[in-house]
Amino acid sequence: MSTPTTPITVAKGDGIGPEIMEATLKILKEAGARLEIEEIEIGEAVYKRGFSAGIEDSAWESLRRTKVFLKAPITTPQGGGFKSLNVTVRKSMGLYANVRPCVSYHPYVATKHPVMDVVIVRENEEDLYAGIEHRQTDEVMQCLKLITRPGCEKIVRYAFEYARQNGRKKVTCFTKDNIMKMTDGLFHKVFEEVAAEYPELVNEHWIVDIGAAKLADTPENFDVIVMPNLYGDILSDVAAQIAGSVGLAGSANIGEHGAMFEAIHGSAPRRAGQNLANPSGLLLGAVMMLVHIGQGDVAERVHNAWLKTLEDGVHTYDIYDESTSTEKVGTKEFAEAVIKRLGQTPTKLKAVHYGKAEPIRVPPFAELRRPPAKKVTVGVDLFVHDRRSTAEVAAVVRTAETAKVELKMISNRGVMVWPRGLPETATVDHWRCRFVAKDYAQGLSHADIIEIYGRAVSAGLDVIKTENLCTFDGEPGYSKGQGE
Ligand code: NAD
Repeated sequence: MSTPTTPITVAKGDGIGPEIMEATLKILKEAGARLEIEEIEIGEAVYKRGFSAGIEDSAWESLRRTKVFLKAPITTPQGGGFKSLNVTVRKSMGLYANVRPCVSYHPYVATKHPVMDVVIVRENEEDLYAGIEHRQTDEVMQCLKLITRPGCEKIVRYAFEYARQNGRKKVTCFTKDNIMKMTDGLFHKVFEEVAAEYPELVNEHWIVDIGAAKLADTPENFDVIVMPNLYGDILSDVAAQIAGSVGLAGSANIGEHGAMFEAIHGSAPRRAGQNLANPSGLLLGAVMMLVHIGQGDVAERVHNAWLKTLEDGVHTYDIYDESTSTEKVGTKEFAEAVIKRLGQTPTKLKAVHYGKAEPIRVPPFAELRRPPAKKVTVGVDLFVHDRRSTAEVAAVVRTAETAKVELKMISNRGVMVWPRGLPETATVDHWRCRFVAKDYAQGLSHADIIEIYGRAVSAGLDVIKTENLCTFDGEPGYSKGQGE
């Protein structure tokens, strides 16, 4: 019986992209990868042909069909009007998980952290990256941070499944839920719920600031770390950098409708076309791809041969060091050295075992949605653009009270300034005025809220936004103002 091949889409990219892709594909072929390669063009030339995201419509057809994308780095043209290709692909294919192993290869690659083998699992779609930003007043800009329960559950489940499948021992979660009790609080809560389903794995949570400090100081104490988007974005770079191997790291972007695998570095245009570049980052991205498509046996052959090459001191210029290297090679020669070692395992570095790794499966987003809670609207926050003093603003805002609501408080930049406040609190032209139902159990209708809005506008207030205050199954769905 012939072994089935898996169709994949490949893009050779810009700069050093074509060289490192050629080296990578050659190693995969020699290792026996069962692939049917479809090539698409992305990047600089496509941008210059007028496609603002660096990818043509015809390329999407291949990506949608194969659902597996091995991508070399591209050069993003300077200047405005160009959209990030990575963000476009990530959003279009719903790539919710960014997985980045950060490993040190002591003593063959210089690092301050000889023992480091951390996998960062970053949520890729939500958080402050929804791109919903507004200028609300002369002085205030706003960026909406969106965290969803199904989104948290998907990424956290992915992290635990990844840990289980890869023989990892511990999953750590970083959030800032001491401050963002609702958004990061949800991420943390879901983490604890899901962790309970994996009793064989140690789980822990750190507030992201101290967690980041510990990661940078003692990375050997971490294993798999799962994080919301922003912290993951920052800390995956920190982790790759302190491993000493930015040029060696690969990354996977996993989604429900496809997956993309790449090196974490860019297109290094100054090194292009000189047979100098290190293909290792892309090769390790390709190893993750092989595991994803169920070719763990080939992934293991490639990864172990690569480790043996590193260990034998066969190094490209970027990691060459007279004290640890035996041979300085170019891209092609490095690939040949890996091919020569296929079937071998490292003796000093830790060998990898993927065996019969299955693609990681977590329930689709739609299945993670829960039935709606009983929702009661119990008040409204009216946001007002006004340059006057606290006392002057409060006097006008109070006239918007109706028979059903009273003005509970006014805050400025989150700090309560009325009915109590400190004279030292500096204020800007952006006031959050909280109206709460007198009859909390009965709540308010949309008409009640429109009445408050209408009264405020009639009193001459520049209302810029309203945010309903609701309870969900009796639990308040809003935070208190500082000092409230
Ligand atoms: P870069 O990662 O291309 O280069 C940073 C440094 O690392 C340079 O000194 C470079 O020579 C070296 N380097 C990178 N990869 C190497 C390799 N494989 N072997 C040896 N040395 C290597 O980052 P940059 O210079 O900031 O960006 C260059 C271009 O790449 C920009 O147009 C940027 O937008 C793009 N970029 C693309 C991606 C991507 O496609 N995923 C990611 C980052 C940057």
